[in-house]
Amino acid sequence: MFDRPLAHRTSGSGGSGGVAAASAAGTAKPTYDYLVVGAGFAGAVIAERLATQANARVIVCDVRPHIGGNAYDHENEDGILVHKYGPHIFHTNSERVFRYLSRFTDWRPYEHTVKAEVKTASGVQHLPVPINRTTVNALYGLDLQTDEECESFFESVAEPIDECKTSEDVVVSKVGRHLYETFFRGYTRRHWGLDPSQLDASVTARIPVRTNTDDRYFGDTFQVMPLHGYTKMFERLLSHPNITVVLGTDYRDLQHLVSYREMIYTGPVDAFFGYRYGKLPYLSLEFKHETLDLPEGQERALPAPVVNFPDEASPYDRVTEFKALTGQRHPKTSLVYEIPKPDGDGDPYYPIPRPENADLYRKYKALADSTPGVHFVGRLATYQYYNMDQVTAQALTLAEQLITGTTSRTAAATATTTSGQRPAVISVPASAAPFGALARGAA
Ligand SMILES: Cc1cc2nc3c(=O)[nH]c(=O)nc-3n(C[C@H](O)[C@H](O)[C@H](O)COP(=O)(O)OP(=O)(O)OC[C@H]3O[C@@H](n4cnc5c(N)ncnc54)[C@H](O)[C@@H]3O)c2cc1C
Repeated sequence: MFDRPLAHRTSGSGGSGGVAAASAAGTAKPTYDYLVVGAGFAGAVIAERLATQANARVIVCDVRPHIGGNAYDHENEDGILVHKYGPHIFHTNSERVFRYLSRFTDWRPYEHTVKAEVKTASGVQHLPVPINRTTVNALYGLDLQTDEECESFFESVAEPIDECKTSEDVVVSKVGRHLYETFFRGYTRRHWGLDPSQLDASVTARIPVRTNTDDRYFGDTFQVMPLHGYTKMFERLLSHPNITVVLGTDYRDLQHLVSYREMIYTGPVDAFFGYRYGKLPYLSLEFKHETLDLPEGQERALPAPVVNFPDEASPYDRVTEFKALTGQRHPKTSLVYEIPKPDGDGDPYYPIPRPENADLYRKYKALADSTPGVHFVGRLATYQYYNMDQVTAQALTLAEQLITGTTSRTAAATATTTSGQRPAVISVPASAAPFGALARGAA
């Protein structure tokens, strides 16, 4: 029997109630082709593909009480749509991913912008990030008119460094020490609990610095938000008679109650192997949600959809105003503040980009590659920061391989990045640094 209650929603004929009942009665175990662990992007996309394209019977379980993984959204008590695990903004260059997801949702166009709250001698300023000509003009009281003038400015402040070994080297060699200290150093130290001089150069290998006045955070071809939210999209992805969804259940409590041919595993790879080589280090976050009353006639509380805090003394990385992302109109407004927890406590969110962690992951990957009947896919199973579109691409590729019988067990090598390239072993999350988001060539 289950050692905790099963909160469940089923779309197929044989639901978790059926699973538990069959087990209790000692009758034959319910039989599935696939057990999918995790109902986030990786799990839901694979389940949908296998159910609809291979007519496979699929059972999807998630230890959380909801579908959608980290992209889960819901209406809070005031009726404002919020993202439980921090803001999720959809952007991709992949037409394949965009077309695929468009079967399950309509979209609203949304071009994301971010401002950094910077304390200067003349007071607090909210300046566009990534750094662009507007940022430079406002910060230094300049009037640079052209890309060339701005380029010359960056050249005049950049410090020549022969070989960029650390993140600090990369940034300082591009925009000089003052911009580095104003926008980057404190943010990184708070977020990762590490000084940029301790972080590998790959973290900021291609920091976006713009000489124009484009203040969009992303440069992707498709920049949209699901019109009715992510959870509604996931409901449609998983709504098929061949798919059974079991929520609030660890797969280890379920796997002996059902028969299945193969497992798709999207949880943490180190947990799967009982932390045999030790824990893979993650940065965690605490999300502080709050709802504010707004003065009559005012729609927004913040000067931008997201405000970053580069000052190391701030406890928060950033604050997000959800109505700016979703377009919802409401007399109140809901915000979420993100507080980094670099000490390893809490849910795993960002793999910590250090070479020794990549080495540790490689040991788990070798185990995963030699585990028959289990396919490891998604951000936790491959210890890799991926955006939603990248995980979707990875899942589509694995599903195709399963359907055509040409699989490998870890899907990392087949993932398509936002810019359509293969991801690096460790990459920087969109929110990890003021510059991080555009490390994919959006500038
Ligand atoms: C703060 C933050 C902001 C982000 N913002 C963006 C953004 O703006 N744009 C973007 O494209 N991407 C963003 N991302 C990345 C995005 O969250 C991921 O790309 C996406 O969630 C990955 O999907 P997944 O299925 O691999 O993992 P997940 O969504 O984490 O799903 C894995 C699921 O497996 C379940 N699970 C784990 N272990 C077990 C177990 N033992 N038994 C059963 N179930 C289990 C988990 O509960 C989880 O629901 C952000 C990430 C974070 C942390």
